Amino acid sequence: MGLTVDTPNGPLTLARGCDGCTLCCKVMRVDAPLNKPMNRWCEHCVPGKGCGIHETRPPVCRNFHCVWLTDAQFGAEWEPERCHMVLWLDLEGRRLNANVDEDHADAWLAEPYYGQLKTLASMALYRGGQIVVYVGKQTFVILPSRHVALGALGSDEYIFIDRLPQGGWDARKVDQAEADALRKAGRV
Ligand code: SF4
Ligand code: SF4
Repeated sequence: MGLTVDTPNGPLTLARGCDGCTLCCKVMRVDAPLNKPMNRWCEHCVPGKGCGIHETRPPVCRNFHCVWLTDAQFGAEWEPERCHMVLWLDLEGRRLNANVDEDHADAWLAEPYYGQLKTLASMALYRGGQIVVYVGKQTFVILPSRHVALGALGSDEYIFIDRLPQGGWDARKVDQAEADALRKAGRV
């Protein structure tokens, strides 16, 4: 049994520890009070060691646990500094996101990662889930047999994945008005 930590949603038992990994302190955008953009090292990070202000790090950092830490089903190949990606969940766990280290921008297209992401998509889409890769501002939606490049997502744009009548899936960006209409129609 791994370490149990307190989170705003209650206790969380971790599958493993960071063990010197610091990749989220580079690839993740961190909101206030740090206001750190994606793909820039946090000024407090000591790469390869950990957080230089560990005891006083802000709640936004204290409460972040990547999927590698929380889900033992992801094998050793998903260790963040090995795969050059940080996996995290949002939309109440329905969306799995992969923030790719821009210094290794094609890492997600290499195997075994691309194949595993497509397999995860083939399981997630039927449950209303999404698998999304970010390389800087570029957004890629993973489908069971391919990916769709959506470019940069605006703050009022959302990802919509459509099940096609002829079979298969497609993904596109929708604005707030269309997202509301799709929600009303029960399509998201
Ligand atoms: S990416 Fe995950 S394993 Fe690495 S430092 Fe962040 S939380 Fe820890
Ligand atoms: S404050 Fe610490 S934990 Fe938070 S991003 Fe910076 S180095 Fe990482």
